[in-house]
Amino acid sequence: MSPQFKANATPTEEDGKSLSAELISNLILNSPVAQALALIGDRWAFLIIRDIYQGARQFEELRRLSGAARGTLTSRLKRLVENGILYRNPYRDAPVRYEYRLTDKGLGLYPVVLNVWEWETKWGEGEHIPLQLTHSTCGKSMHPIYRCRHCHAKARIEEFRFRAGQDRSPGKKVPPRFQRRSKSRSSVGADVDQRFFHYLDVIGDRWTSLVLAAAFFGLQRYDQILEAIGIATNILSDRLKLLVDAGVLVKLQYQDKPARYEYHLTDKGRDLYVPTLAMHEWGNRWLIRDKERSMVLHHQLCGKNFESEIVCSECDGLVASSNVVYGSADAD
Ligand SMILES: [Zn+2]
Ligand SMILES: [Zn+2]
Repeated sequence: MSPQFKANATPTEEDGKSLSAELISNLILNSPVAQALALIGDRWAFLIIRDIYQGARQFEELRRLSGAARGTLTSRLKRLVENGILYRNPYRDAPVRYEYRLTDKGLGLYPVVLNVWEWETKWGEGEHIPLQLTHSTCGKSMHPIYRCRHCHAKARIEEFRFRAGQDRSPGKKVPPRFQRRSKSRSSVGADVDQRFFHYLDVIGDRWTSLVLAAAFFGLQRYDQILEAIGIATNILSDRLKLLVDAGVLVKLQYQDKPARYEYHLTDKGRDLYVPTLAMHEWGNRWLIRDKERSMVLHHQLCGKNFESEIVCSECDGLVASSNVVYGSADAD
């Protein structure tokens, strides 16, 4: 059975005009999401943040949970500290030892972590599906609901429109560095926590995340995507195949002789918009200096600029890192 999809439900510009390839290209490469991914989209950085949210603080524990090599972990921690996401806190003198904690900027990533958690719960594979979350406010096992703060509707890709921001001149296009995908699944140790691996396998390098961004902006044809993100054809073909194999895109023929294909988001792919939205909000708040010129997301259902909140599926109360317990309330 082929995956389900709904075509033409991707965001368009607020006034309904279609967007030029140049503008889309500019939006994708300079978006708050692209900037956020440059800091946290790296597989190891993302796993470190996952583990710190679950209470890990110290180097050896982070190493065991992520399976990262010592040097890799050292360099990623250093970068996260330099970028103001973590800080080092001395917990022992002579010799001094440090643990890692989240700054306010790092704590702002909680909606991203929760939305990835929820996405993996729904779409992850087998034993790597995350633990149930418990909302300590109501004491029940729950799903986090990421919704519009103004109208309380659950965030769904079809209901977003965006305004491109005031500055429509081509920005500085910085093509992402090519990164080899790390195929970690086959070589992980027994202690390694594999939660989020499916998500990271899907978005796990910058080219893939740019292809996905193009899909979120409504680009469906190979040539459009190629033009928008300036990617080598062999890499684009590889990443499209990867996203099709992961069930995030579905390939549909729209023309014979020569055969031409479009790539549409499946339901699984459309659900990936939710963690991406959370990344957009975080990037906009913490990384974008000139907010006037940044892309604005409108929630079409209520007509307001999108601002999110996360509530508990069971009691409708607000969910925050301080009132979530990792594990099921129903288990012994
Ligand atoms: Zn709304
Ligand atoms: Zn609750």
